This record gives sequence, structure tokens and C-alpha cells, in this order.
Amino acid sequence: MKLAVYGKGGIGKSTTSCNISVALARRGKKVLQIGCDPKHDSTFTLTGFLIPTIIDTLQEKDYHYEDVWPEDVIYKGYGGVDCVEAGGPPAGAGCGGYVVGETVKLLKELNAFDEYDIILFDVLGDVVCGGFAAPLNYADYCLIVTDNGFDALFAANRIAASVREKARTHPLRLAGLIGNRTSKRDLIDKYIDTVPMPVLEVLPLIEDIRVSRVKGKTLFEMAETEPALNYVCDYYLNIADQILAKPEGVVPNDSPDRELFSLLSDF
Ligand code: ADP
Ligand code: MG
Repeated sequence: MKLAVYGKGGIGKSTTSCNISVALARRGKKVLQIGCDPKHDSTFTLTGFLIPTIIDTLQEKDYHYEDVWPEDVIYKGYGGVDCVEAGGPPAGAGCGGYVVGETVKLLKELNAFDEYDIILFDVLGDVVCGGFAAPLNYADYCLIVTDNGFDALFAANRIAASVREKARTHPLRLAGLIGNRTSKRDLIDKYIDTVPMPVLEVLPLIEDIRVSRVKGKTLFEMAETEPALNYVCDYYLNIADQILAKPEGVVPNDSPDRELFSLLSDF
């Protein structure tokens, strides 16, 4: 099963992805997490360091795919989760979609792409062009991380529109929204009244999640020495269980930008 995690920049995609990956591994699945952000910090909390990117490695080997070995690009992370960072094109040049395509091509050549029960693509921010939507070409499900605010829901709506577009030609479904860093969900609920989709979980702002980023550890690793944190792991295990239940998912309907503006604002 292939999952693509999308959402506004800084909303908590990588944090959520790493913890969901460990949760899925805890359920006995062989998991590969692929970071698709030029920031290449997707797998930081799994490995504890910034691993070399596929693009760096390919450049080093003059794009001779046959000279690249799995251990050059696939790193073991916490909980047995394998980690890859696609990296980004040179700033201001090239295309993120090309990078994702090269990553998938390389993993296929290494016979790694079909070896996993779950491949999770941790994708960057908004879907501003086809390149950013490239992981949707490979995914069965899209997950959207959002808070209860206008900007993240606006980005969520654009991602939903991309899923609708891709679902015409790909077997892709939106598994649903994950609310993050919010104790309220009134705007989320307003949005899903208009564009119906499941809400898999809503995580509040939790200081230990912020700290986990600085420590380079998932909540599961932190909970080994601080069992009081197991309640946070339960949020992620709950999301993992819903994914493993192979949800029907939705092809989202359309909410034009202008309608969304009036729905989510007071004027
Ligand atoms: P993204 O990948 O979407 O850019 P990150 O996963 O890097 O976002 O998260 C940005 C920051 O927010 C990180 O420092 C992370 O620890 C913090 N964070 C994410 N989710 C939560 C949460 N539920 N509570 C507190 N801090 C969080
Ligand atoms: Mg990220």
C-alpha cells in the first residue's frame, strides 16, 4: 500500500509521517518512508540525522544508476522503518516531480519499490503544480494534515482538488484529514460539511511532540523511557489501524476558492 502525506508547510507532515511509519511497523508491516521535500528532513526523527539525498547520490555517481547500491540511499530508522530522502532540484531550477520520478525509478532498479508492505511519501506543502502532485501518481491513498485554520484548510482544499484530478486516471483515494496541533475543530468540521471526507484523528498541540523534533526521536522512542507518553503514541496507532483497515476513502468533490473564502471567514 502506498500513502502520500500532504499539507501546508510546517503543519506537521514529517512529524506525523515518522510516527505513523513506526506505528505501522509496530503492527508488523515492512515500512519505507520517502521524504519528497527539498528540506530533506522528513526522516530526521527516525534516523536522528539528515541522511544523504537520492539526488546527491545520483550526482556523485554521474547518474550511473548501476553504481548505486541500496545501502547508499536506504537508511535504517527507528522501529525498523527504512528511510529515503529524495531531496530537491537545484533551487529555482528543475522540477520536484522529476526528483520524485528519479527516486521511484532508482528504487525500482534496486528492486526495493515492491519489497515493502507500506511506502509512505512525505510530500511538501501546497500542490502548486503538477510536479508537486507527482507522488499521487504512485499512491493508493492521500492523507492531508491540517490545523483548524484558514491557510491549512485552504491548502487542504487544493490538495483535495489534485486528488480529484488524479483519481480520473489513477486508482487513488483520499483517506482523510488528520487534524494536528489544534484542540478545536470547528473550521475543519465546516470544511468537511462542504467537501465530505473522513477525519482520522485530531491531535492537540503537545509540547513533547515539539521536543521530539529537537531530540530527533519519534514519540515511540521517547515513550521507551517516558511511559507517560504512550497516550501520544496511541493517536498514531489509531491512524495506522484505520489505514490498515483499507478504508474506502473518497474522491473529494469541488469547493471553488471563492466559496471556501466565505465559508471559512467571518465576512
Ligand atoms: P512539516 O513537515 O509539515 O513542514 P514538521 O513535521 O517539520 O512540519 O513540524 C513542524 C514543527 O511542528 C516541528 O518542530 C514539530 O515538532 C512541531 N509539531 C508537529 N506536530 C505537533 C504537535 N501536535 N504538537 C506540538 N508540536 C508539533
Ligand atoms: Mg516536512
